[in-house]
Amino acid sequence: MAVYDGYEAVIGLEVHAQLQTASKIFCACRVEYGEPPNVLTCPTCLGLPGALPVLNKKAVDYALRLIMAVGGAVNKRSVFARKNYFYPDLPKGYQISQYERPLGQGGAVEFDLPGGGRGRCGINRVHLEEDAGKSLHPDGGEKYTRIDLNRCGAALVEIVTEPEIASPEEAYGYLQSLKLILQYLRICSGDMEKGHLRCDANVSVRPAGQTAFGTRTEVKNMNSFKAVQRALRFEIQRQIRLLRSGGKVSQATLLWDEKQEVAVEMRGKEESEDYRYFPEPDLVSLNVTDDWINHIRDRLPELPDARTRRLVRQYQIRDYDASVLCADCGLADYFEQVMKTYDDAQVAANWIQTEVLALIGETGVRIGDFCVRPAMLAELLGMVSSGEISGRIGKTVLAEMHRTGRTASAIIKDKGLALISDPARLSQVIDDVLRTHTDSVAAYRGGKLELFGFFVGQVMKATRGQADPVVVNDLLKQKLET
Ligand code: ADP
Ligand code: MG
Ligand code: ZN
Repeated sequence: MAVYDGYEAVIGLEVHAQLQTASKIFCACRVEYGEPPNVLTCPTCLGLPGALPVLNKKAVDYALRLIMAVGGAVNKRSVFARKNYFYPDLPKGYQISQYERPLGQGGAVEFDLPGGGRGRCGINRVHLEEDAGKSLHPDGGEKYTRIDLNRCGAALVEIVTEPEIASPEEAYGYLQSLKLILQYLRICSGDMEKGHLRCDANVSVRPAGQTAFGTRTEVKNMNSFKAVQRALRFEIQRQIRLLRSGGKVSQATLLWDEKQEVAVEMRGKEESEDYRYFPEPDLVSLNVTDDWINHIRDRLPELPDARTRRLVRQYQIRDYDASVLCADCGLADYFEQVMKTYDDAQVAANWIQTEVLALIGETGVRIGDFCVRPAMLAELLGMVSSGEISGRIGKTVLAEMHRTGRTASAIIKDKGLALISDPARLSQVIDDVLRTHTDSVAAYRGGKLELFGFFVGQVMKATRGQADPVVVNDLLKQKLET
């Protein structure tokens, strides 16, 4: 437990993840980001009288995948419930969610601890619900708030943890890990900027060693995992100061202001009674059969931790490299595709983590859209390994491939970049170098042997890095020693 001057923090997170289903959870409207406002709507998601919801089976499939991936138990009978509240972007005046009988309960998510090692946080529940629309508050001094209902009715899973997270840094680790699981399961993009992943953080503090929980607050409105971490740091300090000065924490919902880095009280915490939950009369209970569960379980994709371990085993790369590659499903895919036609796994891992990541970082493309396809990188690495080109030239060739989309062999042929190993040609270059640096030659012969590297450098410079270093070394030794 992280201790803050005699106090410790208790954190529980509620994450909403938008499921990547083609259509919404209770109607056939498409789910798409960035469409003109209110075009992806129908009587059902607009909440018009008489329109009835029909459950999207895919949304259930996806939620089941997640429940099984975290080792939770599936409730074979779960119930949709109406959560009633008024908000302009909620045209029905209620949200269909699950309350008393969620689809999943239990399980845990493992994550990297800030000081090294692995932590684990229990999952309290995983349930299905529909999303609300969006209220747009333009900054331009507009008088009105605009409502976009395209998102209204999009399928969400809510993942609620046990209050088992001990610090803002652990919360960050948990979120990273959960996001990666969602991406590996191919059920959620994990994109927080687009609102596909949202996190509310519940936090309380108590004197270190006390078992009873303190009163918690809930902080909302963070738009990145780092913001969640900052908001929690702020709120923990605020609560501790309050208690120290003899005050009491009151249960409330706070809004994080990222610019000011403060959390501001939005409202007193609503209790569940405020929502007047009751079973949704327009839907029957959701019954999941054993066959359905088995069908999903048999098709669960490999998860991040398992894949990291497999890459180490199968390709004999370092743990650290495997975890960097597996921290992005697309990057690990890329690596494995390179390895189909190239055989030095450690070299491939190094190039991908340094050169490839730098290039895609520059342009901001996703690895899946990187124009240097895995087979093209494999060809380039093959040419470096066989000594056809030097590693240094290889890097410039890769940059050129990235710029032009051409293959390594085409670029090398065109630009005449292949390694120069012809002794006669290199001999000439070396003679030139020695002739222009007679002082250094004299110094070398007088015992300043460390000048050898200088001569090599000059030869490389004269050949734009294309000289074969082995041949250069041999020839230089011969010429300097006579
Ligand atoms: P609600 O539905 O009212 O938001 P829940 O009981 O479902 O409340 O809990 C929501 C989240 O708050 C859970 O992640 C839970 O672990 C966490 N939580 C509950 N009590 C505390 C507490 N005293 N301190 C910190 N987190 C808490
Ligand atoms: Mg809550
Ligand atoms: Zn609709």
